[in-house]
Amino acid sequence: MNAEPSPNLFARLRPLRPPRVCVAVTAPDPSELMEKAGALARDNSFLEFRLDYLPRPALALAKLKQFAEDYPHLMLIATCRRSASGGKFKGSVAAQLDLLNKAAAAGCQFVDLELQSAARSKPEHLLRLRSRAALILSFHDFRATKKLDATLAKMTAIAADFYKVVTTATTLYDNVVMMKFLEKNSHQHSLIGLCMGEQGLISRVLGVRAGSVFTFAAVSEEQKTAPGQLTAQQLRSTYRIEQVDAATKVYGVAGDPIAHSLSPAIMNAALRRETVNGVYLALHAKTLKDLLACVRDIPIHGVSITMPYKEQVLQHLDNMDPHTSKIGACNTIVRAQDGKLYGFNTDTAGILRPLQQRILLAQAKILVLGAGGAARAAAFALKERGAEVCILARTAAHAQKLARQAKARTVKRLDLKKLSFDVIINATPVGMGNPKESPLHEGEIHAKYVFDLVYDPVETKLLKLAKAAGAETISGLEMFVHQAARQFEIWTGKPAPWDEMLRVVNRSVLEPPIAKGPLNQKNPA
Ligand code: NAP
Repeated sequence: MNAEPSPNLFARLRPLRPPRVCVAVTAPDPSELMEKAGALARDNSFLEFRLDYLPRPALALAKLKQFAEDYPHLMLIATCRRSASGGKFKGSVAAQLDLLNKAAAAGCQFVDLELQSAARSKPEHLLRLRSRAALILSFHDFRATKKLDATLAKMTAIAADFYKVVTTATTLYDNVVMMKFLEKNSHQHSLIGLCMGEQGLISRVLGVRAGSVFTFAAVSEEQKTAPGQLTAQQLRSTYRIEQVDAATKVYGVAGDPIAHSLSPAIMNAALRRETVNGVYLALHAKTLKDLLACVRDIPIHGVSITMPYKEQVLQHLDNMDPHTSKIGACNTIVRAQDGKLYGFNTDTAGILRPLQQRILLAQAKILVLGAGGAARAAAFALKERGAEVCILARTAAHAQKLARQAKARTVKRLDLKKLSFDVIINATPVGMGNPKESPLHEGEIHAKYVFDLVYDPVETKLLKLAKAAGAETISGLEMFVHQAARQFEIWTGKPAPWDEMLRVVNRSVLEPPIAKGPLNQKNPA
């Protein structure tokens, strides 16, 4: 039987309403641990000391006491997770309890104890611990998100102040499962819930509005204590977690892979600048079905669709503008109030605007490399503006199909040596993330302008070769900012804060800062 603590005992602890973000601090020795915590104290009022990361955690207790006295305004969690439960502490459950008791006596208002350890502890020992600090009873599933209600039932058989359920997202929908669990149970219990892993991002940002009392963050990218953990800076500045509430509209960029995307940085900055109550997330969608289930159930109000889904997604839309259906690729979804999905293509604006800043498109001779979504957006839009469009793609049948539909023509790679163009556009992913790879070789580039839609790296091998061949270059960043600005306008009905979006792109990717050029001009459209 579990001993229930007397209500008076916890009167001191119950009003504890922790901030939304707790920063997990680790270090190889106690001095460094306190130094790091001290550096964090100015901007963070809630810290978790991961004592299990220390080779001898007991040696940190005196310093911990001093720290708590020096920073009385901070809320502190002591955690000394055993290796059997995914931590690094090799001692017994009794040794773990002893450490947590001492950490509480040293001034930590919260202690974290895993369900496995608690289940092996005597009720009176837990009661004693709980008389000194608020007990966070925790459970971690490092493989999946499943059986949450059954887990909580097991946990609540043990009296605690907070129940922390951390699982692993293997699909985007696992976040929905976690958030539904929080919504259902947070009225009866003080819960902390989130999913680990790259696919768990949604729950790390939106869990707090579903009922998680707080969430965890890392000090920095290098000091994460759980897979998929965001830094405190990302949670606060990029995702504005302190402002997330029931009215916050959710947007996101979906693709596979998605880690390289600059969209969350640029879009969240735009939402912040225009004071739109919205948050924009990176959604690593391994299947469209998984993504669309989240769009329906979270719900997600707007999605930027990127590789490899721009074409496949069309069959799932309820409606689309004629331009999008003609291109046959959609990069922007709007979810209407009635749940219907509308598709748009803003890649066109992203391709046309940078070119229109430089040349007259009527009669310009333009080579498009690739026959996928971006190539289609380019081919149709350029033809509509009177350009002469040529297509070259690795799969000849795809090039021929696009040429036929867009009333363009195909060219053969062998002929490139003798052909010249006003513009060459790379609409293949060749060169993305690989500064040594180029879709064209030296001797194949005869053009006034070369526009590489790839923006990572900013100066691709193709653009380097183009410069060497005497062409002017246009970076994929220009397209990126233009297409994102158009998406922002469609979703919010407000003009995009072009300057801010540009500033964020510059800060995110350019070293040295972007050269003054058309990208630094005001959006002319
Ligand atoms: P997509 O629909 O998957 O089409 C990719 C095209 O490239 C296909 O025609 C494909 O050929 C071809 N391709 C793929 N790998 C290739 C390789 N190794 N060698 C030669 N051709 C190859 O992709 P997308 O959405 O059009 O995007 C294309 C590129 O544009 C991506 O790099 C993307 O990052 C970039 N992009 C940039 C922006 C921006 O804002 N800057 C916006 C949109 C897209 P097959 O037909 O044979 O498969």
